[in-house]
Order: sequence, then structure tokens, then C-alpha cells
Amino acid sequence: MAARIIDGAAVAKKLRQKMAEQIAAQRLTPGLAVVLVGENPASQVYVRNKGRAAEEIGMKSWTHTLAAETTQAQLLDLIAKLNRDPAVHGILVQLPLPKQIDAQAVIAAIDPAKDVDGFHPINAGKLSLGLPAFVPCTPQGCMILIREAESNLSGLKALVLGRSNIVGKPVAQLLLQADCTVTIAHSRTKDLAEECRAADILVAAIGKPDFVKGGWIKPGAIVIDVGINRIDDPANPGKTRLIGDVDFAGASVKAGAITPVPGGVGPMTIACLLKNTLQAASGDMGHA
Ligand code: NDP
Repeated sequence: MAARIIDGAAVAKKLRQKMAEQIAAQRLTPGLAVVLVGENPASQVYVRNKGRAAEEIGMKSWTHTLAAETTQAQLLDLIAKLNRDPAVHGILVQLPLPKQIDAQAVIAAIDPAKDVDGFHPINAGKLSLGLPAFVPCTPQGCMILIREAESNLSGLKALVLGRSNIVGKPVAQLLLQADCTVTIAHSRTKDLAEECRAADILVAAIGKPDFVKGGWIKPGAIVIDVGINRIDDPANPGKTRLIGDVDFAGASVKAGAITPVPGGVGPMTIACLLKNTLQAASGDMGHA
């Protein structure tokens, strides 16, 4: 039987509508400052989308665009100003940063109470301790989509493919908090296919197009495809298209529920950024 498609765009839209209503009802003016260093085209698109999405639901947003040659000291100076600004509730520094800047030092300079990306060591530490924290946006979005497919995750076997600080590790923490039995796999994992076949929930976040094959999916599993890979589109010579880390055609005949790429996890990431910003503005640091 074909898998249920988990419509991340629709779930994200509903979440944004709910937030817009809350902002209007409580007369809040959440403020999100987005910092972009350099001219990475993908980053420019992400930053524009984040600012637009914030304004659409009644938030204020500021984009600080700095030259590619910006020094670490100059960037830290801007972060210090944003930390002090009471109108700014959330600060996001778009990654990657140019190589003269130490991203970890910049993340650590953000006030943890304004760290709406959830990357600050304080928030990462609190998440691993199970304390209220800003939860990174993509992992938070993954959990909301998993719960769309299955509300009771207790005891399910979850496999997280990828162990990055921004996706794999925090997703694994959240699945653990949801009482799943969690395995984290990575490039050194032996017999990945077998690990996948045992998983009731599979979260793929490795950045390799169509890497996870349909035959690796446990029948009925929930498959969350975080990967965003731009490939040449064979149907449209000269054009590109986005695909995930999972072979969607093969997996969707085995899985119980699956996210598409695009239209799955991607839209949830921005919605959860807004959710964190709203939490920062209302002083509410609850979990996803
Ligand atoms: P990273 O490159 O930081 O991490 C990739 C992870 O995948 C690593 O842990 C790596 O293992 C593992 N990996 C790489 N190759 C293999 C392999 N052959 N077998 C098993 N594991 C492998 O990526 P991110 O976590 O930042 O992003 C992952 C994907 O998710 C990318 O496609 C990215 O574009 C996408 N993404 C999507 C977002 C969204 O909003 N939808 C947001 C963020 C990311 P090891 O540690 O051993 O090297």
C-alpha cells in the first residue's frame, strides 16, 4: 500500500496561522534579527524567506547583511548590539560563515535567551538534560511531522541517519525524550541497510541524493527525509530540481508515512524558527 504523504507545507501553514492569531490576540511584537555574512546565493534565499515569513505573521524582522570580508570582531560587535536591543527577541546568524570567522565563537556570543536557532551550547546542553530550551528548528519540525503520523512514539525503534549538531544529534535527543529506542547512524556505521530495516521511524539527514533505498524501509515505517539535494533534472535538460536523501518512489511503497522533498521538513524549519521567536518574545521556553 502507498504511504501516507506527510504534508509539511500544510502543517507549517497551520502553525503559522496559529502564531499569527496569538500575536494579534496578545498584541505582541516579536522581533527577529537575521545576520547574513557574504553572498552565498542559497543563504540569501533562506534569509529572505525567513524575514518574509516573520513579517507575514506580524513579527518585526531585520536583516543585517555584512560583507564577505567582515572580521570576527565586527560580527561579534553586531551580536553584542543585538543582544542589548530589547526589540530583538531572536537572533539568527545564517550559516555557513566565511572561513575567517569561527562559527562556534559567534554562536556562543549570542544571548542564549535570544538563540532561536537553538545552537548555543547552553541550549544544546539543556536539550540533552531534558530541560526547557530553544530546540533547533529542523529537529523540532521533524518531531511535529512524526507526531502527525503517530501520536504515541513510546517504545518505537528510531534510526537517525546523520550525527550533525544541527540535525542528527538534536533529533535523536527529541526521539529519546519521546521514549523511542534510538540508534544514531553515520558514515562509519556498518550495515546501514540492516539498521534501517529495523526502524519504525527513520530520519534521514545526510545530504546524499536518493541514498536510502526503498528496500531498506521497514513496512509501515515513518520516514522523515531531511535531505535537500539539488540535482540536474533529467526531465528538463539544463534545469535542476531538489530531491531528498531517500529514494521517494521506492520508499513510498513500503513506508506507512513519508515526507516529500520539497514540501516536507523544509517548510517546518522556518515555521519552527518563528515558533522559537514567539517563545522568546513571550518568555515561554517550552519544548516542541
Ligand atoms: P552534515 O554534512 O553536517 O552531516 C551529515 C551527516 O551524514 C554526518 O553525520 C555524516 O556522517 C553522515 N553521512 C554522510 N555520508 C554518509 C553515508 N554515506 N552513510 C551514512 N552517513 C553518512 O549535514 P547536515 O546535518 O547539516 O544536513 C544533512 C542534510 O539535511 C543536508 O542535505 C542538508 O541540506 C539538509 N538540511 C535540511 C534542512 C531543512 O530545513 N530541511 C535543514 C538543515 C539541513 P559522519 O559524521 O560520520 O561524517
